[in-house]
Amino acid sequence: MKALDQKIEHLPTSPGVYLFKDHKGTILYVGKAGNLRHRVSSYFQKPTGKDTKTLTMIEKVADVGTIVTDTEKEALILENHLIKEHRPRYNVKLRDDKSYPCLRLSVEDEFPTLTIVRRIKKDDSLYFGPYPSATSLKETLRLVRRLFPIRTCLDTKFSHRLRPCINYEMGRCLGPCCGKVEKTRYQGVVQQVRMFLEGKNEDLIERLKKKMEQESEQLHFEAAAKIRDQIQHIERVIEKQKIVSRDFSDQDVIGFYLQDHRVAIHPLFVRGGRLLGGKGFVLSSSGLPDEEVLSSFLVQYYREGRFIPDRVLIPKRIPEQTLLEEQLTEVKGKRVRIFVPVKGERKHLLQMACENAKQFLFKEDALGKDEERLLEALKEKLRLRKVPRRIEAFDISNLQGELAVGSMVSFEGGRPARERYRHFRIRTVEGSDDYGMMYEVLLRRYQRAVEEEDLPDLVILDGGRGHLNVAQQVFQELGIKEIDLISLAKERTVRGSGPSGGQRMEEKVFHPQFKEPFPLGRDSPLLHLLDRIRDEAHRFAITYHKKLRKKTIGSALADIPGIGKTRQRELLRHFGSLDKIRQASLEALEKAPKMNRKLALAVHSFFLKGQDEPLDPTSRKD
Ligand code: SF4
Repeated sequence: MKALDQKIEHLPTSPGVYLFKDHKGTILYVGKAGNLRHRVSSYFQKPTGKDTKTLTMIEKVADVGTIVTDTEKEALILENHLIKEHRPRYNVKLRDDKSYPCLRLSVEDEFPTLTIVRRIKKDDSLYFGPYPSATSLKETLRLVRRLFPIRTCLDTKFSHRLRPCINYEMGRCLGPCCGKVEKTRYQGVVQQVRMFLEGKNEDLIERLKKKMEQESEQLHFEAAAKIRDQIQHIERVIEKQKIVSRDFSDQDVIGFYLQDHRVAIHPLFVRGGRLLGGKGFVLSSSGLPDEEVLSSFLVQYYREGRFIPDRVLIPKRIPEQTLLEEQLTEVKGKRVRIFVPVKGERKHLLQMACENAKQFLFKEDALGKDEERLLEALKEKLRLRKVPRRIEAFDISNLQGELAVGSMVSFEGGRPARERYRHFRIRTVEGSDDYGMMYEVLLRRYQRAVEEEDLPDLVILDGGRGHLNVAQQVFQELGIKEIDLISLAKERTVRGSGPSGGQRMEEKVFHPQFKEPFPLGRDSPLLHLLDRIRDEAHRFAITYHKKLRKKTIGSALADIPGIGKTRQRELLRHFGSLDKIRQASLEALEKAPKMNRKLALAVHSFFLKGQDEPLDPTSRKD
């Protein structure tokens, strides 16, 4: 401890980030400070005022690392980055890997389109949202399509149309892809969409009314009638939408509720004065003061790619308020304000958000109790040693042994813990050796888990006895005795005595210590839980595998001079697969979009030389 004291005494007094580590070098906590020495030494002064969790952490600290930054703002960014990377045990962690869907209006385009996106890019487009669910977003998109004839196709489709699509026939698009509308008229529609999504409906109706009068004056009665219908429709929409604020700027109202070291945070999204919805999170306070929990949440929540509103209403002042305001303003490119409302409409909104946070925590607690009961039942039914509060499940995905990958998903309390998910590229196994691959993945995962003392309660494999044997061998080699192990496979069951023998496939659970599999019954909630976990492992493996295949194909084409990203995409779209590009004649290559004789020759000779033996992803059946 003396060495640590000395180290702390000599820490710089500049701003930066500090990392508390235990005797094994594992990072326990990452924090930021305006004065590193001052902040770090405050932890090791008298324990008064410190909660038990902080005291336990301090006892474990064997070393402290620091990274000096020029400013506190830099330290804030770095702290967020390091928390995301190391996920230290004593930091407040926001479990939220999903980015919420938004609508993107590409106003920088000559003929803008309205599309759904999950990440906000730093471009000149306008973004609307986030929508609390994909359903609410699709509803809005459907409504916009019905009210305004704006294109909703992707740019790639737009640039290659020879005839307008069905939307044009249905009057839902003006057909800019084929020159059916002038730019100014189309821009008028874009302006209306923008006003509608910004909630400026009264202004929009005014504008439409004027347009309707003009059309009538010019005796364009059909056009005038169309606008009249449009106005009536928008009025009906407005009637249903509750206006919660007369402030038409975009606001996130952050509800906060704490109970027994558990914190519920519930942002409400107010856009154009209307309440779009909200999203709840439950975090462990880690014994930290409310202000620090809230601050950690906001820093992690408004990460890159997330929609940043004009105002963030919070229930109490946070230490990083000004810093965070500056950071968000910089990212948004427009002034962002974070403040505690004291009266009026905003205060009322905040109370509403806090009530939502409270209700969310109650709901989560009730759900948690149900899940705990389910896990206890699983323990009883499958004769497990422990209640499987932490489960890890594995799956392998490959294409005849090529590009093989393993995936691991983790569930805590019956719910996905996505920050623990892992991918494994198979390194040592060649060919379609499923058992060999599973052996490699399990060995790599649990060698590390033993070192880090990070073992789950239960491991689930997709497969039968053979897979179980592999896992047992790995556990034996690593001296692991405390993990329960099961596998899940479909087996034929004979029922009755019909001509087909009354056979049907049934999901069975295998346990190493029991000869017979456990039949759980098709409607068993236990089977549904196991299925959900296994399916998630499968989905995760397939997604990664697809990504890898895409990358491989991309890199094969990228090796050909003159074939950049756009041409790679075009070639794949035109021919359908890499194999088909490889087999294409010189003439066919030349005729493909964005190609010419020289490029066609380059592609043709590249594959003739057999420089690459790529895979054909489209021939794969998962
Ligand atoms: S008509 Fe043309 S521009 Fe409109 S949605 Fe269809 S393809 Fe896109």
